[in-house]
Amino acid sequence: MVKSSEVSGFYKKPVEERLKFIQEFACLTDEEVATLRNTGGLPMGTAEKMIENVVGGLTLPMGIGVNFRINGKDVLVPMVIEEPSVVAAASNAAKMARARGGFSADFSGPVMIAQIQLVDVPDPFKASEIILSRKKDILELAAKQDPVLLQAGGGPRDMEVRLLDTKMGPMVITHLLVDTRDAMGANAVNTMAEAVAPLIEQMTGGRVYLRILSNLAVHRLARAKAIFERDVIGGEAVVDGILNASAFAEADPFRAATHNKGVMNGISSVVLATGNDTRAIEAGAHSYAARNGRYTSLTTYEKDADGNLVGSIEVPMAVGIVGGATKTHPVARIALKIMDIKSASELAQIIACVGLAQNFAALRALATEGIQRGHMGLHARNVAISAGASGELVEKIAERMVKEGKVRADRAKELLAEYAHK
Ligand code: NAD
Repeated sequence: MVKSSEVSGFYKKPVEERLKFIQEFACLTDEEVATLRNTGGLPMGTAEKMIENVVGGLTLPMGIGVNFRINGKDVLVPMVIEEPSVVAAASNAAKMARARGGFSADFSGPVMIAQIQLVDVPDPFKASEIILSRKKDILELAAKQDPVLLQAGGGPRDMEVRLLDTKMGPMVITHLLVDTRDAMGANAVNTMAEAVAPLIEQMTGGRVYLRILSNLAVHRLARAKAIFERDVIGGEAVVDGILNASAFAEADPFRAATHNKGVMNGISSVVLATGNDTRAIEAGAHSYAARNGRYTSLTTYEKDADGNLVGSIEVPMAVGIVGGATKTHPVARIALKIMDIKSASELAQIIACVGLAQNFAALRALATEGIQRGHMGLHARNVAISAGASGELVEKIAERMVKEGKVRADRAKELLAEYAHK
């Protein structure tokens, strides 16, 4: 019998019925069903309300990033990730940063952008002028949509209007800039964009299509900085190795993608641990890295007057502590408690620090492995001796092998034969 994945009303069925259905469909054992049913620290009843068609959960390990000192305060950072070494690397970097007081961080403020796409306007310039001239009315209408946000000290702050030339013709894009305080703000600003759209249509005679936030949250930037003391991180060669690695990422998108993946190892694991939206943060980070038309690195490194390494990061950080899963997932609440988080701004700053720590650790490991070539000399001498070299031939053969990048017994023997015939 051909199995069908078409199930009417699957969403209405109780979890047990859904489980029964997929057990039959996929021939799952009772044990496998029991494993699915175990939702760990997230009760099934809560999981069911978070997304649709729930049948279980997938638990990932939560590790604690230790040694972090951020703006003069010690913080334990919960990180949820499936990849080994990430938590250890971040903790190690944070330890090295402590010699100079740890990380300093700041935040530009929780201002989110909502976009309203206007088309079919005969005169886009005129339309943009009209929209800007009615800024007060538009912002007032937007503000009315979320009295709770207003009470929390947030709300619409400003507007931007941009003209786009597209293959479908000119478009007038209005940005509502909304202070979303401790919320990530997606729902908050989407509601506002939808509310003001008819007014924008009415005043311009155009037609609005999309009304939704932008994940390129350029008005919501988290920044972090740390000084890594030269002698703590392994000396001048390590500093120079990291500077070169960083320059490589700045200049080359192929390298920048991997460089930033390392940054996101740190960032996404804290975003996930706190129940925030990893896709939103990742979309924001990568689009920010390409904001000047070429994809580049999210971090920068410099050498200070004393030869120490100064690392910094700047990244959009639209995270919240009141909405979505940050509120509903019990483990996310505990993660916030572990960090003693009182505002979304604090969380954003911690996350930026972890991103920088992770990146520093990765670059140091890469640069140090390169620097390990020095150690290859020692290894090559041993290989040469094992192959039968003696006297000054040991050094000569070892040097040749290191130069060629072929530190191997077979090559040592070849070279030995070559020198024997000279
Ligand atoms: P939300 O709507 O659940 O909560 C935000 C609301 O909480 C505010 O609008 C406000 O009314 C209230 N609030 C109470 N105290 C507050 C305080 N101190 N500061 C600010 N607001 C306070 O959540 P949200 O943050 O608007 O939306 C987040 C969710 O939206 C996430 O789950 C995300 O995945 C999802 N989402 C994302 C996108 C995207 O990124 N493109 C699009 C749509 C939805």
